[in-house]
Amino acid sequence: MTRTVFSGGRVFDGSGSEAAEADVVVQDGRIVDVGSGLDGDERVDATGHTVLPGLFDCHVHVTLSGVNPLSILNSPFSLQFYEAAENLRTTLACGITSVRDASGADLGIAEALRRGMIPGPRTQISISMLSQTGGHGDDWMSCGAVVPTFLPHPGRPSSVVDGPDEVRRKVRELVRDGADVIKMATTGGVLSPRSDPKRAHFRDEEIAVAVQEATAAGIAVMAHAQGTAGILAAVRNGVRSIEHGIHLTDEAIDLMLERGTWLVPTLLAPRDAIAAADAGVLTPEMAAKARAGLESHVASITAAAAAGVRIAMGTDSGVGPHGRNLDELSLMVECGMSPAAALHAATGSAAELLGVGEELGAVEPGKRADLVLVEGDAADLIRSGAGALRGGVRGVWQDGVRVS
Ligand SMILES: [Zn+2]
Repeated sequence: MTRTVFSGGRVFDGSGSEAAEADVVVQDGRIVDVGSGLDGDERVDATGHTVLPGLFDCHVHVTLSGVNPLSILNSPFSLQFYEAAENLRTTLACGITSVRDASGADLGIAEALRRGMIPGPRTQISISMLSQTGGHGDDWMSCGAVVPTFLPHPGRPSSVVDGPDEVRRKVRELVRDGADVIKMATTGGVLSPRSDPKRAHFRDEEIAVAVQEATAAGIAVMAHAQGTAGILAAVRNGVRSIEHGIHLTDEAIDLMLERGTWLVPTLLAPRDAIAAADAGVLTPEMAAKARAGLESHVASITAAAAAGVRIAMGTDSGVGPHGRNLDELSLMVECGMSPAAALHAATGSAAELLGVGEELGAVEPGKRADLVLVEGDAADLIRSGAGALRGGVRGVWQDGVRVS
């Protein structure tokens, strides 16, 4: 079998340590050796480059291509699946070889990827986000019309639920429909017509039953959580990751540390929402909500990173354009994380959050050969600001096969 050696470059191994000079040998889709002076049948010249583990984005919406309600209303229903194929290809090309879809993608998309019918990152799906009446997933407009961002269909049920019994039934339904993770909104959000991001949604017994049912099915719960009370409720009831985490307090950070809860910051998300507001496509209420959270978001992520909360990279791509995912790492560095810590959040830490750390997220023998070749020093590029790292990507491999 062909041995391919990536030689002459620096390797970021995914652990959070700084990159160091090393060669990497790939055979049969796996990394088989990492060290100096290695040889192979084929050589990828990595001189002047950094070799990274395939990167993760733990919060994307691949069926979403922007948040302009008029354009969503005027898109044919099935167009979203073709757009998803394009968004997945774009995401893969920027070096993201694994994603977690935070609602929208259904089992058909996951299956098309598994069968190799469309190129894209390895994808975990949540299908539909559990939301209480009036919550972040309730698309009821003030005029009385319901204008869904993700129109329910046979593989993507409506998921506005109230009370433990409805939550239990919906989690079971989503598990049946192929969910790899359950997503639940424990606060309001920016891009929902009538919800307040600072308010806690669902009571403890509702969150607890979602976690119980997910756990029984062998999967985890991710919580869209912006306000403090909803973050605390999610963490104390066993949610695995807090998405967004706009209004963290010392109490919330301490509880996350105690419980080992991950934080998926999505620093790009409010910026993309504000860009949409500036373009005039959001209601004034949504625009005001997006702007109101920005400062607190940066302060929260800065404090959480300094305290040592486990962080996994996520962007909310779909709210903004797909393919800019790597810009998130530069925003993380602006919150005080080192480039190596930001890279760790997008590799080893993210792989652990998604339960695939045995196979992915590191450049070490035995792991699947998902690799990204970046021209230059990846840490310098991240420090240079948004756009630099993504502009430096020169090649992407999945299972040792070059895919971009
Ligand atoms: Zn999202």
